[in-house]
Amino acid sequence: MKRYRDALNYSIRTLIANRALSLSRAHRLLYSTLRERYGLPARAAQDCYREAIAIAKSWLKNPKRGVVPTAKGLSVWLVHGLGYRVKGDYVELAGGYRLRVIGWDRRYDGFPNREARLVFRGGRFALYVAKRVPRPAKYAPKGVLAVDVNERQIVVGNSSVEVRIETPVERALHYMRLAEGLQVKYSSSRYRAWRRRSGVRRRVRYFHRKARNIIEDWARKTAHTVISLAKQSQLAVAREDLTGLVESLRELPKSHRTALIVLGYRRLGLWVDWQAEKNGVPLLIVNPADTSSTCPRCGAKLVEVGYRRLRCPHCGFEADRDSIAVLNIEKRALSKMGGSLTTPTAPQVTDVSPNRWGEPVNRPKGTLAL
Ligand SMILES: [Zn+2]
Repeated sequence: MKRYRDALNYSIRTLIANRALSLSRAHRLLYSTLRERYGLPARAAQDCYREAIAIAKSWLKNPKRGVVPTAKGLSVWLVHGLGYRVKGDYVELAGGYRLRVIGWDRRYDGFPNREARLVFRGGRFALYVAKRVPRPAKYAPKGVLAVDVNERQIVVGNSSVEVRIETPVERALHYMRLAEGLQVKYSSSRYRAWRRRSGVRRRVRYFHRKARNIIEDWARKTAHTVISLAKQSQLAVAREDLTGLVESLRELPKSHRTALIVLGYRRLGLWVDWQAEKNGVPLLIVNPADTSSTCPRCGAKLVEVGYRRLRCPHCGFEADRDSIAVLNIEKRALSKMGGSLTTPTAPQVTDVSPNRWGEPVNRPKGTLAL
């Protein structure tokens, strides 16, 4: 694995230096060196330059690219059948290696294996196998579950239920502040000493990773909760198109807080869309304009009557800003579906476009980068 990593780094540098991104050019440039100097088996050499092409491509495509990427961890990319094979309780690898399987997730056994990644971390090997799983058919929804996001919480609901889930931004921010504290402590006005001390640097990186993990974890769990709720009651999930919101947040001065909020939105969007696909839950994206300032009952403009509380001067409807947003999102989603639900003759919802949740064009500004 160490040889593979060194060979991979050599391949990435060579491909980028030569702008060689085609298989045939990569083969000509690298194959014999990978075989002879790095002693890779034929199959591993091919997988190695394929992986290097993918890394080089994505780096060259990034307009804000920094230094040439380097693979640090120990991991090998394997093609099924040629690079690896699962046989009984063993995984056989190209080059004649065998690893005993001590446990695996059996839920996807019925689906064909595709490429895999073998990772060595913390004294253990893990084989991550990609599976080809058919997309489940989407059910005809009996109603809508609306999702409204704001920086403190996610509000999920419709005219009959409402669930609020706190965001972990403050908790994640705590670790960003710890990192910042270290950077300040080990810096002077003239130079940033913390960069030269590997111990401090490692600690700073650890805090940043911890903050990101908190957000990621929350996004996955929350997406799962939302989609399970919808599936249980056979509802469609509706959310606002957050592109505008994410863009406007990016315009703000760089801060850890905004970076974390943007990251949270993007990751939650990604996982909601993924879970919806995976579970056959219809997904609708609605126009976000004025969802929290229009009366969901009569459409009049609401007036503020207290902290985050609004009232309709026309029909007297009064509620919390977030509940109002949920009701408006539900309403817009229902009208998008043509108002026809539930009845067996209702047409299948077809305009469930797979997702744009402030789709990441670029990374958020600030120090966070996945
Ligand atoms: Zn009203």
